[in-house]
Amino acid sequence: MPEFNRQQYARIQELRNQGALFEDFSAGLDAHGVVVMVSCGDCDYIKDIYDHKCGLHGCKVHSLTMNGGGILLSDATPVDRSLHLDQVMIGAVMESVSLKRAKVVALGSHWPCGKAGLLDMSIDDIIACTLHGRNRLKKLDADLGVYSFLHVHHEDGRERTYAINHKHPVFMSYKLLQEV
Ligand SMILES: [Zn+2]
Repeated sequence: MPEFNRQQYARIQELRNQGALFEDFSAGLDAHGVVVMVSCGDCDYIKDIYDHKCGLHGCKVHSLTMNGGGILLSDATPVDRSLHLDQVMIGAVMESVSLKRAKVVALGSHWPCGKAGLLDMSIDDIIACTLHGRNRLKKLDADLGVYSFLHVHHEDGRERTYAINHKHPVFMSYKLLQEV
């Protein structure tokens, strides 16, 4: 079961109030055929991500799941770098895009995430690494649509998937995102 951290939930609420995270994730996705979806494979949440909250209804989902999901595409994630997981994941995404002729990638992380917890990552760390991964994909293919999202299991049991507004000024202060 998740460990709830009030400070991090307060941060999520703050980002929602600022419009940096927003609930309407479906815009722009349904019109496309195949969506390559990167997410954590956490068995407690993956069904909700698939079935209800991603706005992927009507799309064919080509799924790439690994513990941590979207955070892994950043080389700033504090994982064991000898594994080169960022390169593995980016390679798998681009290969999937090519194999399935996909025009859209849904790049997601979630909270609370066991992997992110092991790495002692905050909400801001998770979002920064997810958006960094997004930027790295866009650098490889500027025409690729990359929708970043954060799935949240709230303290009262509700599950919500928030789109991450990558253009929001609050994220411009992330040092990691100023590099790209
Ligand atoms: Zn997880």
